Amino acid sequence: MKGGFGKGKGKGKGFGGGKGFGKGKGKGKGKGKGKGKGFAKVVVEPHRFAGVFVSRGKDEAMLTKNMVPGESVYGEKRVQVDGPEGSNEKIEYRVWNPFRSKLGATIVGGVGQMPIQPGSKVLYLGSASGTTVSHVSDMVGPEGCVYAVEFSHRSARDLTNMAKKRPNIVPILEDARQPLKYRMLVGMVDVIFSDVAQPDQARIVALNAQMFLKVNGWFIISIKANCVDSTAAPEAVFASEVEKLKKDNLRPKEQLTLEPYHRDHAIVIGQYRPFKTA
Ligand code: SAM
Repeated sequence: MKGGFGKGKGKGKGFGGGKGFGKGKGKGKGKGKGKGKGFAKVVVEPHRFAGVFVSRGKDEAMLTKNMVPGESVYGEKRVQVDGPEGSNEKIEYRVWNPFRSKLGATIVGGVGQMPIQPGSKVLYLGSASGTTVSHVSDMVGPEGCVYAVEFSHRSARDLTNMAKKRPNIVPILEDARQPLKYRMLVGMVDVIFSDVAQPDQARIVALNAQMFLKVNGWFIISIKANCVDSTAAPEAVFASEVEKLKKDNLRPKEQLTLEPYHRDHAIVIGQYRPFKTA
C-alpha cells in the first residue's frame, strides 16, 4: 500500500533511533491530509503482530489503522494510503509514538508475543486520557472492546470524550482496586493491560484477573520501578513483582525493559492460570 504522510503537528520526538521515525513538530492536532503536495511517499506494511502496521520510506513509523479517519487523538501524525485498486477509498493510519506509550515501546522494543489483536476484549487499567487506549481501540477494531478504567476525573473526562467517537471503548471512572464497582460494565476479557504506576499494582491486577480474566487469558503489566520501591535497584523491583504475580496464578512468560523509551520501566507479559500442557 502506497500513500503519503499527513502534516501531523504532534509532540512526537521521533523514535526507534531510525532516521525520520515519526518526527512530529510542535503541539496541536495532527492535520494529516494524505497524498498531495508536501507529502513524502510512504508504503504501509503489516507488522508481524495483527492490528499493527509499519510505514516505510522517508518517515518510518509504527502505525495503527485509524478507527476515526480524519482525526488524531493526541496530536499524532496520520498517514493515508490508497485502498483496494479500482476503488476511490483511502485507508488512514495513526503514528504510534513509543515515547508516549508503554505498549508502543513494548512492540517497538521487540516483544515476542502480543495477545492484543483484532477482536480481543481488553481490560485496560490506568487509561489516563486515552493515548494508548486509542491505539488499542484501533488494534482490536470493531469486533473487539476496550474497557478503560481510570480514577482521575480530569483524565477520565478526556478519555470519555475520545470514546464518544470510538464505540469499542467503554470508559469507566473507577478505582481499579475496587473491581466490584464496575463488574456490571465489564464482561470476561482475553487480556488485562495495566499501567497504573502504583506500588500495589500486582495486587490490583490479581483482583481484576480473578473477576474478569478468562482462564488462560493474558496479562501485560508495565512496572515503573520507583513507583514500587524508589530505594531498590530496578532489576530487584521487577524480580519481586514477578514473584508477587506468580503467587496469584499470574504466570509471567516474558519480560523486557522499555529503555530507551521509558526509563526504569519493564513490561511483564504472562498468562492467568494457564492450562497444563503435556
Ligand atoms: N496508560 C496510559 C497511557 O499509555 O496513555 C498512561 C497511564 S499513567 C502512567 C497512570 C494512570 O493510572 C494515571 O492516569 C492514574 O490516574 C491512573 N491510576 C493510578 N491508580 C489508579 C487506580 N487505582 N485506579 C484507576 N486508575 C488509576
